[in-house]
Amino acid sequence: MAKIIDGKAISLSVKDEVKSGVEELKKQGIEVSLAVILVGNDPASGVYVNNKKKACEYCGIRSLSYELPEDTSEEKLLELIDELNGRDDVNGILVQLPLPSGINEDRVLDAISPLKDVDGFHPVNVGKLSIGKKGFVSCTPAGVIQLLKRSGIEISGKECVVIGRSNIVGKPMAMLLLKENGTVTVCHSRTADLKEVTKRADILVVAIGKPKFVDDSYVKDGAVVIDVGIHRQDNGKLCGDVDYEKVEPVASYITPVPGGVGPMTIAMLMHNCLDSVNINA
Ligand code: NAP
Repeated sequence: MAKIIDGKAISLSVKDEVKSGVEELKKQGIEVSLAVILVGNDPASGVYVNNKKKACEYCGIRSLSYELPEDTSEEKLLELIDELNGRDDVNGILVQLPLPSGINEDRVLDAISPLKDVDGFHPVNVGKLSIGKKGFVSCTPAGVIQLLKRSGIEISGKECVVIGRSNIVGKPMAMLLLKENGTVTVCHSRTADLKEVTKRADILVVAIGKPKFVDDSYVKDGAVVIDVGIHRQDNGKLCGDVDYEKVEPVASYITPVPGGVGPMTIAMLMHNCLDSVNINA
C-alpha cells in the first residue's frame, strides 16, 4: 500500500510560508502584488482566476483584476501588458489561458516582462531553467518538486520518467528533475514501448492528459507515482491520468486526484509572486 502524498497539506505549508514572507516585506514597506488578466467568459477560466484571487488574499498579496470582454483585440491586450510591465507597483503579471481565438497566445505571453512572468512561460525564463539560472519556473512542475522534497523522497540518482512533453508541464518537469540530479527520460506519443520505459522509473510523473491511462502494468513495484492529470468524469467526480485504484497497491508513494498536484500549482504561483520582489529588486 502506497503512502499518500497530501498536496492539500503541503500546499497550505507553502502558502503559509509565503504569507510570512509577505508580512515581513510589509514591515519594510514593500507590498507584493499580482495583476491577473482574464479575457472572455470561459467558466473554467473564471473559476481558476477566482481561486488565484482567493490565494492572494490568503497570502496578503494585493491582486489587481482585469476582466476584459471576449472581443478584446490583441492590440488592446498588448497595450495593457505594456502598461503593467512599466508599473512599479505591479510585481507579477498573469494572463489566464486559453485566450479567445484570434489572439495569438505566444505573442501575448512573450510580451510579459520576464521579470514579472510569475507563470514562468516566457522564453527567457524557460531558457534560464534549462541552463540552471535563477528565474521563474512553471508552477505545476515546481509544485511536483516540492511534493517530492517535502515528502522526504530523494530525487538524486533516481530513474525519473516523465510522460508528456508539453511546454508547461512535461519539459520543465524534466529540467527540474535533472537539476535535482535525477536520471531523466521523457516519453511522448511517439515513444515506441512506453511500458518498457515507465517500468524502469523510480519516480514516474504522468502528464499525458488522458483519464486513468496509467495502470499497474506501467509501474515498477515500489515506484513513486505523481499524477499531474485532472479530468471531470461523467459521474461528476475528478480523476487523474493514473488509474489510482490499480496503481496505489504497487506504488510506494502516490498523489491522489483531487488533493495531489492540483493545489500545488496555485501555491507555487504565490511563491513566485513573493520571489518576484527579489527578482525585480
Ligand atoms: P498536453 O499539452 O496535452 O500534453 C500531453 C502530452 O502527453 C504530450 O506531450 C503528448 O505527446 C503525450 N501523450 C499523449 N498521448 C500519449 C501516449 N499515448 N503515450 C505517450 N505520451 C502521450 O497536456 P499538459 O498541458 O501537459 O497536461 C497534462 C495533464 O495535466 C492534463 O490532464 C492537464 O489537465 C493536467 N494539468 C494539470 C495541472 C494542475 O494544476 N494539476 C496543470 C496543467 C495541466 P506528444 O507531444 O507527442 O503529442
